[in-house]
Amino acid sequence: MAHTIVITGANRGIGLEFTRQYTRAGWRVYAGCRQPERALELNQLAEASDGRLSVHPLDVTRIEHIQALAAVLGDTPVDLLLNNAGSYGPDGVRFGHNTDEAAWIETLRCNAIGPMKMMEALVENVAASELKLIASLSSKMASMDDNGSGGAYIYRSTKAALNAIMKSAAIDLAPRGITAVVLHPGWVRTDMGGPHGEIDAETSARKLRALLTRLTPADAGRFFDVDGSIIPW
Ligand code: NDP
Repeated sequence: MAHTIVITGANRGIGLEFTRQYTRAGWRVYAGCRQPERALELNQLAEASDGRLSVHPLDVTRIEHIQALAAVLGDTPVDLLLNNAGSYGPDGVRFGHNTDEAAWIETLRCNAIGPMKMMEALVENVAASELKLIASLSSKMASMDDNGSGGAYIYRSTKAALNAIMKSAAIDLAPRGITAVVLHPGWVRTDMGGPHGEIDAETSARKLRALLTRLTPADAGRFFDVDGSIIPW
């Protein structure tokens, strides 16, 4: 039987590319995005998908959207929950500049609390599936070990919070056979990564898909780089 994925932030960037590739690979794809009516490329993919791809309104900071998607899914097994949606927060954040509290909290809601709420809402669907995978897109910028340049307080700290959440979830959900991991997609040429990124979204999604197929339960709680190596916390 075809595998099923739920993906957040599916309308552009790496999320759109994941959606394209999983749909092409024959998966049943539930694609969430904040403004489906404006998601032109995503809607075109859905129209050409023979019903394999459906688009759902999903702002991960809005619990009612998460609950509505859970209701659409019902008992449907979800092989892979892919928490892709993310926000960099305000630009130009540095010590003493642009460390705006409201923007910080909003970014935390998107990058950390949203993925947690997605996991809580869909854990039974994942547990009922064949592959039982949860992956969240974090960033090397969340790594304390890798931080050699300082700054980026809001992005770094909210993705570090995501890492802490994923580590706990990996431990808590392992007895249910679920493998939860954190992924760094590389420096990718998207709206967030900018034009000078090292790889394109097609390459990033392709490599991460390959990595996900290789995962075993022993990998739960690991922080993977796009090349498959482990990133120190
Ligand atoms: P983009 O900025 O290109 O796309 C971000 C996506 O997340 C968009 O679909 C956006 O939707 C969505 N999103 C933002 N906020 C929310 C929200 N509250 N609810 C639902 N969706 C939301 O980013 P990338 O594709 O480059 O990044 C994808 C993931 O990879 C992110 O988690 C990012 O942090 C991570 N990452 C990216 C790197 C890079 O170099 N590009 C490097 C390291 C990590 P909308 O269009 O509505 O804004």
